[in-house]
Amino acid sequence: MIFGIDAGGTLIKVAYAKNGTLQFTKFPIAEIEKVASWVNEQSESRVCITGGKAGVLLSLLNKKAKEIMEFEATHLGVKFLLERMGRVEDSYLVTNVGTGTSIHCIENNRQERIGGTGVGGGTLLGLSHLLTGVTNYEEIVRMAGTGSRDRIDLKVKHIYEGKEPPISGELTASNFGNNLFSVAAELSREELLAAVLGLVGETVSTVSVHAAKQCGVSTIIYIGSSFFENPLLKEVVTSYTVLRGAQPLFLENGEFSGAVGALSLVK
Ligand code: ATP
Ligand code: MG
Repeated sequence: MIFGIDAGGTLIKVAYAKNGTLQFTKFPIAEIEKVASWVNEQSESRVCITGGKAGVLLSLLNKKAKEIMEFEATHLGVKFLLERMGRVEDSYLVTNVGTGTSIHCIENNRQERIGGTGVGGGTLLGLSHLLTGVTNYEEIVRMAGTGSRDRIDLKVKHIYEGKEPPISGELTASNFGNNLFSVAAELSREELLAAVLGLVGETVSTVSVHAAKQCGVSTIIYIGSSFFENPLLKEVVTSYTVLRGAQPLFLENGEFSGAVGALSLVK
């Protein structure tokens, strides 16, 4: 068995080849010892590891493993998953919305990290918990999908009352910027969660669109587990990215980019 493992701040993503087919699985970071035992149990196996927790995982393995820098692994994995989807792209931006968000410019087969933001999937979990007490990712995503941001976010058109705004009135002027004092006690958990998702999605896409301009590309590939079964976040990111003139692309199994890239380097 051969393993490519991306041990990130929140989740461990594993890509492995079994009987010649590519398989994917993931574990919470708290189960790092379980992942190590699984790999250790395989008598014939080769492993390549990446991600911020690669060192911790390596120290738990009883066999030699290769380690690769996470930005390089992600770059290789994105290339592989793009080809698998039948897409040909030469120059593009990769925005990895993991625990935090990291942004990379890919040109002529080289990647350069050009920035990031601390607003990411960790913010989604953390703020959601603080505001509503909900801790489970699937539950946060499901509840946010039925909530409205109208009473929480302030749109440009709300400021430009009775007047044509100089930019689209539908843009958010201020996330959580509405007059909340009068309604705070009435807000439902669904409304609050929808607003958290909006904040994360709009921040990530706004930063990405500026980065794409700086890099001179128009396609933005969004990856990271924050998009996993999260149609609302994808919708927010898509509409903001398109509104600002760039094209979003969500890779199938994109959250496994780092793991797939690591797998491709197993010798
Ligand atoms: P980083 O790359 O920043 O070190 P990471 O690689 O662990 O972190 P990802 O796995 O890409 O990050 O994304 C983690 C985010 O995905 C979480 O913060 C959360 O918003 C979301 N997520 C998706 N599925 C789950 C899950 N089952 N449990 C917890 N978070 C999840
Ligand atoms: Mg990661």
